[in-house]
Amino acid sequence: MSRMTRDELFLGLASLTSRRSTCERAQVGAVLVRDNRIISVGYNGSPPGAAHCSELGCLQGSRGANCIRTIHAEVNAILHAPGNNAVRGSTMYSTLAPCLGCTKVLMAAGVNEVVFLQYYEDQDRITFLAENNHGQIRFRAYSPEEVTPEEFLHGLFSIQDCSTRVLDRRWGISS
Ligand SMILES: [Zn+2]
Ligand SMILES: [Zn+2]
Repeated sequence: MSRMTRDELFLGLASLTSRRSTCERAQVGAVLVRDNRIISVGYNGSPPGAAHCSELGCLQGSRGANCIRTIHAEVNAILHAPGNNAVRGSTMYSTLAPCLGCTKVLMAAGVNEVVFLQYYEDQDRITFLAENNHGQIRFRAYSPEEVTPEEFLHGLFSIQDCSTRVLDRRWGISS
């Protein structure tokens, strides 16, 4: 039996969480971790009580293709964490590298590191910010190749067939 790494666990959970998104343009999931414990999760969706992209379609801003209807996954994860002290020194696992706005929120909240599966479109600006923040926040791509949440989950479950393992344990079959 191969043991799942922490990166795989938290990025797998971020990938699952992205399935709750109500935005049609992009589905993003984020998991906030401190001392190897999950303290919060978030996905991109409309503010509570507001209509969702899945009902009305995405809402494009004046500057291009980005949907402006939703609160981003990273901000929702910060909002639903149990308080500022818990967030300080944490690591954000996300299916997508944060946008510039989220990056600034993460820095203000005291998140130390962001681990992600896919690059975001304005990565150059984020890289510039990361290199000029006096070490406040680090960015790490999980792999050199971009991986979609679907590919990531497929990889996890085809390598480690959980259902088979549970059955084997139940019937006392050792592998
Ligand atoms: Zn949308
Ligand atoms: Zn964002």
